[in-house]
Parts: sequence; C-alpha cells; structure tokens
Amino acid sequence: MEKQQISTLTGVIDKKMNRQLKQYLDICARCAICKDACHQYVATQDFKYLPARRAELIRQIYKKYFTKSGQFVPELYEGRDPDERLLEELYESTYACTGCRRCMFYCPFSIDTTWILTVAKGILAAAGMTNEMLEQLADAAIFKGDNFEMFRDVVVDGFKDIETQVQAITGNPDAEIPVDKEGADILYVALAGAHSILPAAVIFNEAEANWTISLFEAANYGYFIGDAEKARKIADRFMDEALRLGVKEVVITECGHAYRVAEVFHEVWSGKKHPFKVRHVLEVMDEYIKDGRIKVDPNSITEPVTYHDPCQVGRNAGIFDEPRDIVKALATDFRDLTPSREEQWCCGGGGGLVAMEEFEDLRMKSGKIKADQISATGAHLIASPCENCRLQMEDLDKKYEMDLTVKSIMELVVDAMPLAGREAYEASIERENAAKGE
Ligand code: SF4
Ligand code: SF4
Repeated sequence: MEKQQISTLTGVIDKKMNRQLKQYLDICARCAICKDACHQYVATQDFKYLPARRAELIRQIYKKYFTKSGQFVPELYEGRDPDERLLEELYESTYACTGCRRCMFYCPFSIDTTWILTVAKGILAAAGMTNEMLEQLADAAIFKGDNFEMFRDVVVDGFKDIETQVQAITGNPDAEIPVDKEGADILYVALAGAHSILPAAVIFNEAEANWTISLFEAANYGYFIGDAEKARKIADRFMDEALRLGVKEVVITECGHAYRVAEVFHEVWSGKKHPFKVRHVLEVMDEYIKDGRIKVDPNSITEPVTYHDPCQVGRNAGIFDEPRDIVKALATDFRDLTPSREEQWCCGGGGGLVAMEEFEDLRMKSGKIKADQISATGAHLIASPCENCRLQMEDLDKKYEMDLTVKSIMELVVDAMPLAGREAYEASIERENAAKGE
C-alpha cells in the first residue's frame, strides 16, 4: 500500500483520537471475558467475531503508527499496516457487529468495542470499503431532506389515508393526524409505513394529546455506517422541524437506533442543547395508561406473552420497566426472557444487519440463541419496540419454525383499547379481503 494511502487511513485514527479512545486501545487485558458475551462468537466460535479481536485490528494500526515502541519495533509490539488483508478482515468483523454492546457490559474495563468500530468504519470509508446498501439508504434520506418539496404531497397524502382509518377505528370523525402544527406539545417521529403511524395516531387521539406528526422518518442509516456527519444531517430533518414548530417534546417511535441517535448522540454531534425533551413513545404510552388517559382491557392477552429488550432501547438507553409495565397492564401471563434487561441477548438483527444480505447466514445462526430463549418461555407471542428486532424475530420464526407472533407494543395497546369503531372497521377489512380473495 502506498505511503499516501496509509497516511489517509491512519489520519482517521488521528482525527478520532481522544482520551477515551486511547484508553480503550491501551487497557485491554486480553482476558477474553467478552467472548462469551457476543452472540456471534458464541454461535460460530469464529475468532474474527470475538469482540476484542475486532478491536485488535484497530489496535494494531494504532500501535504501529501512534506508539513509540510500535514505531521502532512493530513486530515485537504487534504493530501492523492497514494492508488489504487487514482491511478485508476489518470489513467483515466491523459490519457484522450489531452494536449491541453486550461485550461492554461484561468487560471488566467497560471497553466499548462499538466505539472502536466507528473508527474502523471511518477507515473503511477512507479506503472506499463502506457497505453500499447502507450508504445508499443514508444518502437517499439526506437527499429527501434537502429536496423535501418534491416529496411533500406524497407524504401528506399518505398521512391523510391513514387518518381515515384512524377515524374509522376510533369511531371519531374528528380524529386527526396533524401535520406542521405550530405550538403542538409533541412532535411524533415515525418510521415509514402505516404500522408505525396508525397505532400511535389512535393512542394520541384517544389520549386527546396536542400532537403533530413529523414529515420525516426516524430511521437513520448514517448511524449504521458510522458516519456522524450523515447521521446528524438525517436527524436534523426532524430536530429542525421540532424547533420550527416550537414543540415541548420529540417522541420517537418504536425504533431502537433512532431513539438513541435522537436522545444520546444528536446534541453531541450538533454541539447544541435541545430546547425540548426527547422521549421514546413507550415512556409516553406507559404514562397515558398509568394516568388513565387511555383505557386498556387488563385481560386483553390471556395467552403467555414475552418481551425482548432491543439493545438500543434497553441496555444502551436504560428503558426496561415501561415496556414491561405496559405489557403487564394488558396481559394475564407475562413471562420474561432469561437472561433479560441489561443481560439480554441481542436478537442478531441490529446494526443494520437485516438490510445486509451478505450477513444473512450469520444473522440466522447467531439469532438461534434468541430463538431458544423465546422457546424456553413457552410463549408464542412476543412484543418488542424495535423494527429491526421484529423483522429479525419474524425471520427466526420462519427459520426455526417457532409458531411465533411478533408484535409492537403499540399494536398490543391498541388491541386492548375499547374503541367505538373497532367492530365496524374490522368487518370492513374482512369484506375488503374477501373481495380480494385473501
Ligand atoms: S473483556 Fe475487555 S479487557 Fe477482556 S479481552 Fe474483552 S475487551 Fe479486552
Ligand atoms: S457489540 Fe455485540 S455484536 Fe458487537 S462485538 Fe460486542 S457483543 Fe459482539
């Protein structure tokens, strides 16, 4: 590799270097405790998926170019050039990582391997080796933000269609999905698709909330490619909207990474403090149920039901109790997974893996741990507030024939609400399906 190229790649480490990163690179004791924490290593026993090994590739470049001992005798101090072989290994071990941070939870020094891997993603980008699919999705989101007038009518028409369904199911002709409402208390940021909008709209309308919906989706592929600049731009779309409308809080839908981007990273990336709160929609729903703002049937679910903590909602954002309290408010037989909460196993689909075909085998193999965990509860109904996790668990259901139904928490809540128009709405859907021959 040419000197100039090496200098470009090592420049990424130099740019991202701070005290925290230096500490992570210096203190790993190679105890290998993290190996038993990583679902990918446990499932495959493949050395390249061992968390410390993934970080070791960056550590080797760091040793050769940023430590005196490594500069003088790289062979002795395990210094290494970022050559083609290293970059190939780095690509696989980095993009395979789901960012679950279970390894950090068990590491005696709390080394955040995912943080080190954001440096790896920067190096891979500088070497022209990013994941194309994720890169395209991130660029498309930024394009949409920069040229929104092109998309506005389609987006608003989509909301109007869903609004008609909200009016039908609630039996309330005044139920709304407000857009661009200045002075609303809540800006709700959904994912693309009715599944993320309709149940939230039913709940907000029944709770008589002063809300408005964001014109932009919550999903953030810039985060998955480890590009803070792109991730910030994607989140800016709804953060700027929140500022313009003067809302009191931004409420992020049931999506793990989007919540973490909005709540944990956006202020750091933008260098500005938000003049509003950022909450996960589960926190709001839990409050509505506990305050009696929405009514739910406590016997709505009588079959055994379990709950999967998405890594970005649970271990990495600390939301454990609200979702459990919601499910318990609707169900008579709640069964927690073992282990759960901070120790929860990753489902195997995070980090954008569900969108990357090349990792499908690894995704299914490493997800077997989750499939076994679910089966051990005896429940055939599982709820989880993250789209990636739900897609992964649906794929696991097909692969391992688990007879599983996967639902979002919002869907379960709406199913449990006494809604005036539900019967007529469901009958009309049945008629429509019968007419289509479904
Ligand atoms: S558990 Fe921590 S200190 Fe031990 S090998 Fe893994 S990263 Fe290094
Ligand atoms: S963050 Fe998760 S997938 Fe990545 S190395 Fe750590 S345990 Fe493995």
